[in-house]
Order: sequence, then C-alpha cells, then structure tokens
Amino acid sequence: MTSNHIETQAIRTQIERTEFLEHSNPLYLTSSFVFEDAEDMRASFAEEKRRNIYSRFTNPNTSEFVSKICKMEGAEDGYAFATGMSAVFSTFAALLNSDDHIVSSRSIFGSTNSLFTKFLPKWNIETSYFKVNEVDHIESLIQPNTKVLYAESPTNPAVDILDLDFLGQIAKKHNLIFIVDNCFATPYLQQPIQFGADLVIHSATKLIDGQGRVLGGVTVGRADLIREIYLFSRNTGPALSPFNAWILSKSLETLVVRVERHCENAVKVAEFLETHPQVQLVKYPFLPSHPQYEIAKKQMKLGGNVVSFEIKGGVDAGRNFLNSIKLCSLSANLGDTRTIVTHPASTTHSKLSVEDRLETSITDGLIRVSVGLENVEDIIADLHQALTNER
Ligand SMILES: *Cc1c(COP(=O)(O)O)cnc(C)c1O
Repeated sequence: MTSNHIETQAIRTQIERTEFLEHSNPLYLTSSFVFEDAEDMRASFAEEKRRNIYSRFTNPNTSEFVSKICKMEGAEDGYAFATGMSAVFSTFAALLNSDDHIVSSRSIFGSTNSLFTKFLPKWNIETSYFKVNEVDHIESLIQPNTKVLYAESPTNPAVDILDLDFLGQIAKKHNLIFIVDNCFATPYLQQPIQFGADLVIHSATKLIDGQGRVLGGVTVGRADLIREIYLFSRNTGPALSPFNAWILSKSLETLVVRVERHCENAVKVAEFLETHPQVQLVKYPFLPSHPQYEIAKKQMKLGGNVVSFEIKGGVDAGRNFLNSIKLCSLSANLGDTRTIVTHPASTTHSKLSVEDRLETSITDGLIRVSVGLENVEDIIADLHQALTNER
C-alpha cells in the first residue's frame, strides 16, 4: 500500500524483510554481496538486474534511506553520500565539464562557496553570483556555457528566502539544471521539485539526523541526472556508510514530529527576540516582519528552526553575548535537539572582508540561533539573560 503522506512514507518505506521477518530494519554491515554462480555475477555486473554488488555502489541500508528521501521529495531516484559536501561536490563533478559555468545565489553554505571559488576554477568552471535581493538580474548573468542554476533557501546564516518558483521558471526558460540545497527546510517543510528543481541536495547531518550524531548527504531528482551522479560516485567512492544510513533512515521516521516542534519553538524564540530592547532586527521566515514573508508562506509549510537576529553593539556585543550563554551550545552544527548559537562575523565568516560579509547579509552583530527541542521557556530564559548580561 502506498501513501502520499510524508509521515507514512518516512516510516513505511522499507526494503524487503529477511527470513527472520524483523520489524525494524537490520543493519547490513557488509562490504560486498555474494553471487549464486558465474551467470549471476555476469548479469549483475552487466546491470541486467538491480541488486547489491559492493557497498561503494549500493547497500540495503543506503537504498532504504535514499528511497525514503525520494518519496518525501517527490524525486525519481537518488544517491547517498558520506557528507553533505560530498553530495554537493560529486553532483557538480558528475554533471559539469571543463569550461561550464554556474549561476548561483551569493548566500550559500561556506564550503560550497569555497568549492565554487577555489576548486572548480581548476577545471575552468566559473561561477557568477546574484544577491538574494537582486534576483531581477539573474538572466543577465546567464552565458552560452551556463549549465547550472544553484540556490539555497532559507539561506545560512541570514535566513533569507529565495522564490523557488521564480528561479525554476528561469532555469526552464534557459534550459539550465536547477539544483536546490534544501538542507534548512528538510523535505517536510519544502519540496523544491514542485517548483521546478531538477535536483535536490541535503546535508543529512543537520535536521535529518537531528540529534548531532552522524554526517551524511543525499542528492535526489531526475533519473537521468542521478544516473550520471551514480556512475561518477560508484567509481570515486563518496558513499554513505551503512551504519550512518541506518541511523539516518531511523531518524526520518521522526522527522515530521521533530521539525514541527523545532518550528513551534523557533516562532516563540523569534517573537521573544522581537520584543527585546537589545535586539535591533529579527529574521524568521514566518514572522510578518520578514522581508520575504509572502514567498516563505507560499513555498514552506512552517518557518524552519533557524532564527537570526542583529544584536545592538556590533562584533563586541556578539562576542559578549556568546560568552554569556549558559544553557545553549556554542557549536558549528545546526538542526540538533540542542539549541546552538553562533556569531558568524567573529567565527565562520571572520575571514571575509566586511564588504563580502554584507553581500550575504552577515552584519557584525548577526547571531544565528538553531532552535532545539529543549522546553522553549528555558531557551528563551537563556537568550534573555545573555542579552541582559551582555551590556
Ligand atoms: C552543513 C551544510 C552543508 C554541508 O553538509 P556536511 O554534512 O557538513 O558536509 C551543505 N549545505 C548546507 C546548507 C549546510 O547547512
């Protein structure tokens, strides 16, 4: 029985049971699989049958995880990776040729930005960027050799929103492969394929694991593109481990309930911050004050778990705020059960010039809060005391 409901898909998509008729899917810690005879081996390698050969190619645990994400995202096929970044890199490495060109949002994950600016140029692949508030001139960036349109929404760390439907139409008109990193939204809150995305990438390390345990990544979407990505990956080896796939597949079963509570807490945190005198500006997609509130409402089910705000007093105030935090964690991750606060201007983005930071809306006093699943009163009390001590 198949279901269109995402909770049911996440729970009831499973690979075949073994002879033991286990209820919960076991862990397949095996590097390879055996063949019945020479003919079985020949036919398997010739891909005349779809079966497991070697866990660098496929494994029952990774297949289950990928099938769940495909159902939840409405995708034809997918491949799972050891990390979100190996998903991003392998996707580009598989699909692009030297001298191809990328048009990308300026507000993208730091390592993806490094891939575009430091490493892909080795193969003469250049990237042109548009700012989130300058989407009108995207078409002027497209060249005859442009192959990919790339975006993330909501963005990290400023929590801006890009209109995926609008981007999807541009990609279609110019015959570009539209790739969306959907990590901040999860397949529950937003399904980019509905808005014209050809491929969707996730860092499963974040809300999909949701408990800060394992790294993982996945790319899903058009079967013809996934075939290229699969062939590249089965030869180059970025595969997700069976153990991590098992963890991530289990995590998906609780994704909806977790993300709902994350979002419920995040709204309350955002509303609290808006009333605090030390806070200059709060950005949360589902607050009416958000500049792209209407677009967020159109493409997302809820606003996500990340709230950003501008503390009065710039870099020093940001550092002092972090030093005053007691309950929440100072950590580089996000989407964990534990609330995490970061100050991008003095940490993750400190190497950028002030001008470059401002291009991606990272002001000196910007604080990013990945709102967790603790009781929201405790989260708010900690932020409140840190904002008050900070003076
Ligand atoms: C964390 C993250 C990545 C990279 O994922 P890893 O699992 O850390 O390699 C990519 N994109 C976004 C938006 C992320 O937040």
